[in-house]
Amino acid sequence: MTTTNIAVKATQVHKAFGSLHVLKGVDLTVETGTVTVILGPSGSGKSTLLRLINQLETLTGGRIEVDGEMIGYKEVTRNGQTVLQTLDDKDIARQRAKLGMVFQKFNLFPHMTALENVMEAPVHVAHMPKDKARNEAIEELNRVGMGERLNYYPMQLSGGQQQRVAIARALAMHPDIMLFDEPTSALDPELVGEVLNVMRSLAQAGMTMICVTHEIGFAREVADQIVFMDGGVVVEKGGPEIIDNPKEPRFKDFLNHVL
Ligand code: ADP
Ligand code: MG
Repeated sequence: MTTTNIAVKATQVHKAFGSLHVLKGVDLTVETGTVTVILGPSGSGKSTLLRLINQLETLTGGRIEVDGEMIGYKEVTRNGQTVLQTLDDKDIARQRAKLGMVFQKFNLFPHMTALENVMEAPVHVAHMPKDKARNEAIEELNRVGMGERLNYYPMQLSGGQQQRVAIARALAMHPDIMLFDEPTSALDPELVGEVLNVMRSLAQAGMTMICVTHEIGFAREVADQIVFMDGGVVVEKGGPEIIDNPKEPRFKDFLNHVL
């Protein structure tokens, strides 16, 4: 058995929607237990990259490995040649279960309480016994500071509280890697901090995280790696220090606009 300290490795990833070439050869390496922050202007392909990693979209070129295993495909030998064959649904589900994802829109089930939202996938997808799922859900809700609101419905919660429930819901499936796609962009400014605090504590607990965010302060403080994308390519990457010392003009421009 091989163990790897590389959680996600994207190699020359391309993605086109029809004639629209959105990702044009993206390379990304994320080490286990680290936080990567992806920055970049709207339309640069950040969400598409996360959606590819989580197999919500399929690649048009290149490859992505999660925990050392190629996603979506397996290599098979046919007539002495190695070709890629699409994985079956069961293998794709197994691979996707390694990842938790949090979106800009919280997408909680409106007719379910916070607790029921968090229990839903463990019970109905992972077939966990209800008692165990309830206990774990309470634990996850406590972890995001929502232990006092177990029986509230989404509409009775603020945006920041709903997003924290959404994070607990993703954590309840015990992912190895968490993907965050602008988790605070839909929030009123005064609610951003409580969500970033939860993300910071997850990072401190050693979770592997890939975060698309415009929160530069969070990036500077929490990220191990910064990746700046523009026009479907990675323009600059490095440690958090590149935020204060950008080299590429496009990255400088971007920072001037968001800082
Ligand atoms: P970002 O998250 O950096 O703002 P996206 O990855 O959402 O960028 O989008 C990159 C480009 O791909 C945009 O031009 C967007 O309109 C386009 N795009 C994203 N998803 C689709 C889709 N499902 N079909 C067609 N075009 C898409
Ligand atoms: Mg996006």
